Amino acid sequence: MQEVDGQIVYPRTELADSGKAVFEGSPVVFGAPVVHDIDEVREWNALFPLATSFTATLTERRGEPVERIPTPRRLVDWLTVSGLAVDSCTAAQLELARELREAIHAAATATAMHAALPESAVRIINDRSVDGRAAAVLTPEGARHWRLSSAARVEDALGVIAADAISIVSGERDGKMALCASPTCRAAFFDTSQSRTRKWCEMNTCGNREKKARFLANQRKNATAAPTV
Ligand SMILES: [Zn+2]
Repeated sequence: MQEVDGQIVYPRTELADSGKAVFEGSPVVFGAPVVHDIDEVREWNALFPLATSFTATLTERRGEPVERIPTPRRLVDWLTVSGLAVDSCTAAQLELARELREAIHAAATATAMHAALPESAVRIINDRSVDGRAAAVLTPEGARHWRLSSAARVEDALGVIAADAISIVSGERDGKMALCASPTCRAAFFDTSQSRTRKWCEMNTCGNREKKARFLANQRKNATAAPTV
């Protein structure tokens, strides 16, 4: 992992190939990170806290929103890959999850804008946090693992996410809330770059798109500027 202009970039993966031809020679490396060991997991968690990874399940909020947890099953999948595995989820639990997600988004956005926290968002985040009964346990390898009180308790998983949101919104963790520079996104993300100048919620999506748009705009400008013979 390295830092370019305050933007964290990751080793190239096969996902990068589509952008490769367009951005030949670019110092920025594309692709999603492949998490291998516990140090990388820690680094990843610091960069993309659980709470903002959760708010990122609705993307392009200011454009054409894409819902990544449209069904209870998809929430189960997301929780599983996020270390909060549950075995089932009801429609009502999905509703609670989405309500929490939007409350976190509202609180994080207000924090990034140095505005007052919306009362309803604070109430929802606190309700979910209080309702959660997950326990942190230490694995023999020295990692933190969340143990839910029951595999059907989506509320426990939401409690962990709510507590994570509280830790970043309260300024308890090292980093700064910021808003994605993409006008169709404007997601609130947690900037842990040394210079605190990260511009995009995710290099692989918004950062990549912005670079592409700039490249195409330049190409058009050059085409217009080129003398016609
Ligand atoms: Zn973004």
